[in-house]
Amino acid sequence: MIALGAILVAAVLVITSYEIWRQRTVVLSSSAAGLESLALTLAEQTERNIENVEKVIDSVIDSLAEGGGIDHAGSADMHRELRERAVGVPQINGIALADSSGRVLNTLTQWPAPQFNIGDRGYFQFHRDHTDKAMHIGPPVIARNSDREVITLSKRISGPDGSFKGIVTVIVLPRYFQDAYARVLPANNSALALFRTDGILLARAPEAPGAKLGKSYAHLPDFQPDAPLSGLVRAPSPMDGQMRMVAFHTLARYPLKLNLSLDEGQLLASWRGNTLRLAAFGVTATILLTSMVFLLVRHMRGEEESVRQLRDSENRLRLAQFTLDHAADMVFWATMDGRVIYANRAACERTGVTVEEALTLTVAELDPAFSPEMWQGHLATLRQDGTVRYEAVHRPRKGRPFPVDVVITTVMWEGQESLCAFVRDITDRKQAEAALAEQAISLEASNAELEQFAYVASHDLREPLRMVNSFVTMLSKRYGDKLDDEARDYIAFAQDGAVRMDRLILDLLEYSRVGSLDRPLSPTPLGQCIDLACRNLLLAIDESGAAIDRGTDFPMVMANEEELVRLLVNLIANALKYRAPDRAPRITISSERRDDDILVTIADNGIGIAPEYFERIFRIFQRLHGRDRYEGTGIGLAICKKIVERHGGRIWVESVPDQGSSFHFTLKPTPTPSPGP
Ligand code: ADP
Repeated sequence: MIALGAILVAAVLVITSYEIWRQRTVVLSSSAAGLESLALTLAEQTERNIENVEKVIDSVIDSLAEGGGIDHAGSADMHRELRERAVGVPQINGIALADSSGRVLNTLTQWPAPQFNIGDRGYFQFHRDHTDKAMHIGPPVIARNSDREVITLSKRISGPDGSFKGIVTVIVLPRYFQDAYARVLPANNSALALFRTDGILLARAPEAPGAKLGKSYAHLPDFQPDAPLSGLVRAPSPMDGQMRMVAFHTLARYPLKLNLSLDEGQLLASWRGNTLRLAAFGVTATILLTSMVFLLVRHMRGEEESVRQLRDSENRLRLAQFTLDHAADMVFWATMDGRVIYANRAACERTGVTVEEALTLTVAELDPAFSPEMWQGHLATLRQDGTVRYEAVHRPRKGRPFPVDVVITTVMWEGQESLCAFVRDITDRKQAEAALAEQAISLEASNAELEQFAYVASHDLREPLRMVNSFVTMLSKRYGDKLDDEARDYIAFAQDGAVRMDRLILDLLEYSRVGSLDRPLSPTPLGQCIDLACRNLLLAIDESGAAIDRGTDFPMVMANEEELVRLLVNLIANALKYRAPDRAPRITISSERRDDDILVTIADNGIGIAPEYFERIFRIFQRLHGRDRYEGTGIGLAICKKIVERHGGRIWVESVPDQGSSFHFTLKPTPTPSPGP
C-alpha cells in the first residue's frame, strides 16, 4: 500500500515537472523565433539607413568630380547642394567637406564653414593613408563644433590620378539609432545594440550605465574571427549581467553587427506564474494523495492491530479457561439465587458429580450443609464488601467431609450479577496446623519443665554446697594449726572449688530465669538502662581506669528493664575484663536506627576475638581462656543471647584480635502512635 502511494505521488510529481519543463521550452523556443526574425528586420533597416547615407556621400563626391573638384567644395553652391541632398535623410545630422590637410571647407549647417581642422581625426587619417573607396564608419567621438557624441561615416575624395584630395564626412547621432530602435523594441525587457564588427559599441537602446558608447567588446566571443555572422545564444549580458537570450545579425554590406536581446528572467515571468500554479497543483495533489494513502495505511494497520488484539484476547481467554478448568482448587460460578453455571474439573471431582450434572444443581444441592440462612448471610457481606472469605467444612454429596477455604466475589456475567467461588481443600494445612499446635504445646511444657528443673536443681544444689563450704571452713579454723601445709592447701582448694561451684550455680540460675519469669516488655529508656549498668560497674570502671564514651541521644525501646540492664552489664563487664594489658580500656556505647530496629553497639579496645570464635562465644560454658588468666564461667554471653532473642532481636560480634571488639544487638523501638482521625 505504501509502495502504491509512493508510485502515485511520484507520478504526480513527474507529470507536474514535465509540464513545467515543457511550458518553459515552449516559451523559450517561441521567443527565440520571434527574436531572430525581429533582429533580422532591424538589421536590414539599419543597413538601409546607412546605405542612404552612403548614397548622399557618393552623390557629393560625384558632384565634386563633375564640378571642378575639391576647389569647388567650399562654394555656396556646394553648401546648397549639401542641404538639398540631406533632405529626406533624417539620420544625417551634419556633413563636412575637408581638403587633404583636414581643413573643413563646407558644412551642412553653416556657410561659410566655421574654421576648424579634422586632420588629427582617425577617420581622416584612415582615408589619407588608404586608397580604399569604401565607406569608413568611425567610433563615437565628441564633435569639434558641437561637443556632441557622434558617429562619422566618411569616404575619400580622390583626384583623377587617384591622389588624396580630401574627405566627405556625414555625422550621424547615435541617438538617432537609439530612438529608432527604442520605438520598435518588443517589450521593456529587451535591448538592442549596434556594434562595429571589431566590437566597438555604436548605439544601444535603452541606454545602460554599463554600456558606454565607443567602448570595445572585442574580447567577447561574438567578435572573434571565427564567430558566426548571425544566430541565437543564451548568455549573461556583459553590460548588466542579466541572463539574456540574444539574436545577432551581421550586416551584409557594412562591418556592423546588431544584437537584439531579451531578459530571460522577465521572458519567463509569465511561465513562472504558470509554474507556481502548476507546482501548487502538484503540491496539493501530492498532499491529498499522501493523506489518502496515509489514512488508508492507518486504517489497514488499525484493522491488522484489531485482528491481532482479538487474536491475543482469544488466546488469553483460552489460556484463562484452560487454567480454570485444570486448577487444583475448586471453582464455581453461580447465579445470585445459587444456580451453578460453571464448575471446573476439580470442583466436579471433589463434589462427586459430572460437569453436566453440576450445571443442573444449586449450591445447596451440591453441599447439603449449605443452609438458606448461610447463603443469605454471605450475600449480605458480598453486597457490602464485594467479597467474602471464610473457612468451612464441605460435605459433598458423595465422599467424606473436608475443610475448605472459600473466597466468593461478585462479577458481571452476560449482563447479570453472578458469583464466583474459589474453594480450596485445606485438609493438609489443617492437619499441619494441628500437629504444629500440638508440638508447640508439648515444647512449651517440656521447656517449662526443663527450666523448672534447672531452677530447682541449681537452687537446691546451693544448699549442700553451702554446707560443704561451711564445714570445710570450720575444719580449717579449728584444726588448721594441727594440720601440715599440704592438708591446708587441700582445704583451700576445696573452699575455692565450692565458691566457683556456687558462682556457676548462680549463673545457671540466672540463665534459666531469663524468659521463665513473667517479665513483660514495655517502653523503656535505653539511656537510663546504660546509666544503671555503668553505675553497677562503677568500682570495676574506676579500678581499670576505663573511659566510657557514651552518646547522648538514646531512644525508647521495647524491653524489660531488669533484663536490659543485665545484658548491658554483662557486655560492659566483659569489655573491662578482656582489656589489653598495655592500654587503658576505652568503651564506646552507641545506638542507631537500622530499618525497623534499634541497633546498639558496645565497642572496646581490648584483646579482641579471632573470627573462628564469633559464633562459639555465645554458647553456654564456652570460654576462650583459662581461669588462671581471666575469671569467669562462660555463661555471660549465653545469657545475653537469651535476653536479646526474648526481646525479638539478634546479637553478634565483630572483632580484630589485639585491636578490640564490637558487640552489636538489636531491639524493637516503641511502636509509633498511629495518626489520629
Ligand atoms: P566469661 O566471661 O565468663 O568467660 P562470657 O560468656 O561472658 O564468659 O564470654 C565468653 C568468652 O568470650 C570469654 O571467655 C572471652 O574469651 C570472650 N569474650 C567475651 N567478651 C569479650 C570481649 N569484650 N573481648 C574479648 N573477648 C571477649
